[in-house]
Amino acid sequence: AELMINITEQPADYPLKIEKGLLSQLGKEIQSIYPNEKIAVVTDENVYALYGKNVQLNLEEAGFSVKMIVLAPGEQTKSIDQLTYLYGEFIHFGLTRSDLMIALGGGVIGDLAGYAAASYLRGIRYAQVPTTLLAQVDSSVGGKVAIDLPQGKNLVGDFYHPELVIIDPDVLDTLEDTTFSDGMAEVIKYGCIRDKDFFNHLKKLDSRQMIMDNIENIIYTCCNIKRILVEEDEKDVSQRMLLNFGHTLGHAIEAYYNYEKYTHGQAISIGMVAINKICEDLGLSPKGSTQAIEILLNRNHLPTHLIDSSDYSEILPLIKNDKKNLDGSLKVVILEKLGQAYTIEVTADFFNPLLKGVS
Ligand code: NAD
Ligand code: ZN
Repeated sequence: AELMINITEQPADYPLKIEKGLLSQLGKEIQSIYPNEKIAVVTDENVYALYGKNVQLNLEEAGFSVKMIVLAPGEQTKSIDQLTYLYGEFIHFGLTRSDLMIALGGGVIGDLAGYAAASYLRGIRYAQVPTTLLAQVDSSVGGKVAIDLPQGKNLVGDFYHPELVIIDPDVLDTLEDTTFSDGMAEVIKYGCIRDKDFFNHLKKLDSRQMIMDNIENIIYTCCNIKRILVEEDEKDVSQRMLLNFGHTLGHAIEAYYNYEKYTHGQAISIGMVAINKICEDLGLSPKGSTQAIEILLNRNHLPTHLIDSSDYSEILPLIKNDKKNLDGSLKVVILEKLGQAYTIEVTADFFNPLLKGVS
């Protein structure tokens, strides 16, 4: 059955639809929001090889005139160069302000194509069709779009909402195991910060197959938590910040190894366990909570400790360089208990327990 969430993040108000097989109805779904003819579809080579032809045919059968723009896969594609290339392709295709772009792919394509849509002609219409678990549960809500600079990740961007988000969990079947696990780190994060029942439900799913049997509800729950936190953030203080559980340290870990040794999901998995252990030892988080989180992450094939913990002596100084900490204050997300989080301001010393045993 189709699950639907209405995202109402002022000034945006758009539907996010989740249903297995939904990709085969893309043409019909787009028809319901878009009366014109031209559609540029931005995707990467991997996604194109698996789904590109069908998506193109499906849109053409619905009467659209389609241009497929296929980029190399990987984070390097979130660059100024590729942004420039996209603008060129849009112009060549004759895409105007009233035409539509579809971002078909993982978070890289979503961020890059989303930023191209935000900036080309001061903003064109666009729809997101996220195809990785990470993109389905994270990038598809919140309207953040960005590209990287040589100096760092996501340094140029905007808040720019799509008009429609189409999530077909069936496409996750073709993900590599590590990419699937990567998304599971974020899924588990949502349970930790906001929903204990969801966390306990995840504990019962001990194979990728069992997760896929429940995937529509899992994605719905994650997107709904993110929607609530993002919407509350407008009225309240820093609810959105809770989404950063494990991320302050995780970002530093990713950066220290040049984004090569650990994926984002792996790095935040290590980050969530490390921060929670510090908090548990300080009596800020419940006894046993670290172990519970660690078991669930490990079962999803995620690492929970650095291979070489002596690297922390060089990783901790990087925390201060995090874009979110540039104003000098350092906030960390702490679990009051499983399913409930808050933020506190700390000094960099807060992470020092990680140096224990490091000579
Ligand atoms: P990705 O887009 O690079 O996808 C990972 C790999 O999976 C790629 O090789 C891709 O080609 C392949 N792939 C995608 N869909 C597939 C499918 N259905 N079957 C088989 N292979 C498939 O990476 P990602 O993990 O999806 O996204 C990471 C990016 O997302 C980062 O740049 C990050 O900054 C960004 N991000 C943005 C937000 C946001 O709110 N905007 C949130 C989280 C992450
Ligand atoms: Zn994340």
